[in-house]
Amino acid sequence: MNSCFRVLIFIQVLFTGVVSAVQAQTVVEGVRLWQSPDSVRVVFDVSEKVSYSTFFLDNPDRLVIDIKNGVSPIKLSSVNTRDSWVKKVRRSSPPDKDTLRVVLDLEKPLTAKDFSLAPYQQYGHRLVVDLSPKLTAAAATKKEAPVKRHHKPGARDIVIVIDAGHGGEDPGALGPKGSKEKDVNLAIAKELANQINKEKGMVAKLTRTGDYYIPLKKRTDIARTMNPDLFVSIHADGFHDPRAKGASVWVLSGRGASSEMGRWLEKLEDSSDLLGGAGSVSLQDKDPLLAEVLLDLSMTHSREASHQVAKKVLHGLKNTTRMHKHDVQYAGFRVLKSPDIPSILVETAFISNPVEEKNLNSKKHHRKLSRAIVGGIKSYFSENPVPGALFKPAEYIVQRGDTLSGVALKFDTSVSHLKEKNQLTSDQVRIGQVLKLP
Ligand SMILES: [Zn+2]
Repeated sequence: MNSCFRVLIFIQVLFTGVVSAVQAQTVVEGVRLWQSPDSVRVVFDVSEKVSYSTFFLDNPDRLVIDIKNGVSPIKLSSVNTRDSWVKKVRRSSPPDKDTLRVVLDLEKPLTAKDFSLAPYQQYGHRLVVDLSPKLTAAAATKKEAPVKRHHKPGARDIVIVIDAGHGGEDPGALGPKGSKEKDVNLAIAKELANQINKEKGMVAKLTRTGDYYIPLKKRTDIARTMNPDLFVSIHADGFHDPRAKGASVWVLSGRGASSEMGRWLEKLEDSSDLLGGAGSVSLQDKDPLLAEVLLDLSMTHSREASHQVAKKVLHGLKNTTRMHKHDVQYAGFRVLKSPDIPSILVETAFISNPVEEKNLNSKKHHRKLSRAIVGGIKSYFSENPVPGALFKPAEYIVQRGDTLSGVALKFDTSVSHLKEKNQLTSDQVRIGQVLKLP
């Protein structure tokens, strides 16, 4: 009995020793870099929660990352650092035999923010290092200057901000052939911007111009600095059933999602930030109830406008591509929660559907989709002219309730100008009548 007990203890000690020896090693399995206009994100895939320290060296500029009990079977020096502020990733002689020392050779002096992420979906443990340029005092004050929402008098362009969903660590939905939603979103967003920029009196701006992740809240913050008249987020759907197909247009719901699909998409959107690496930074409001009440109050107007644009864009898409839903859809997407900017989200197709995955990779299809979306946007701004904007429709179709003086007011002109331009003898107009605008 006694000796048996002793053997058991011995085995236990031996076993614990082996386990802790195994646990002690942190394997760096991969390194990825994502360069954005204002930072570079370096992501290390590690076998477990990592224990590490970092410090900078200058002349030349370097960031040193010491990973405790780290090992790496991969060749760090062959990590792709092209077009980024990191010149090279390499291994360096460690301060002790239990440390893996990784050095990032930097193009210029940078500051670092680092954090580790717990396993989520396709990713295991990650160590994330965000490097950004040192803010000079002048740049810091400039950044904090309040953004003016009121437009200057005088003719100006209508600004459309286009947001390509996902990016970087967050691939979005995946196609059966391996297409990544983040890539098709960006391609469509760029084509859409192209077409908008060809319109007189309209200008397009992109929240994301390359393959990097932007947290959802930051997307609306970026948009805000661009003084947009409209925010359009581009996505492609993914669903577990490959038969699901067609495009849909979404606006922010008052309360929750309007459909099962809406709830599904909201969940996916939430996981976006966790995947992309914003999970450790809480984007939630401290008091959700108060936030919701305030949001509701200020959103009523832009929600109505959003709904009108969405209807126009939906109409354009209906004539171009297969629709998943023939009505405007509602969900609580965070990316649409700008209280003062009309915002819509377009799911261009289902990337999880083999036929639609193919379409989503076709430049010709991107052009078709973009033409439909631009058509919808133009139609909206034709009926709802922006005061002081250069963009002016050539004609207007009389709607129920319109009067000639009302139309004149809407388009910044006078009844006599309208009558002259359209050779009208009276002030009477009828529904459906096409009026040429001066
Ligand atoms: Zn998406």
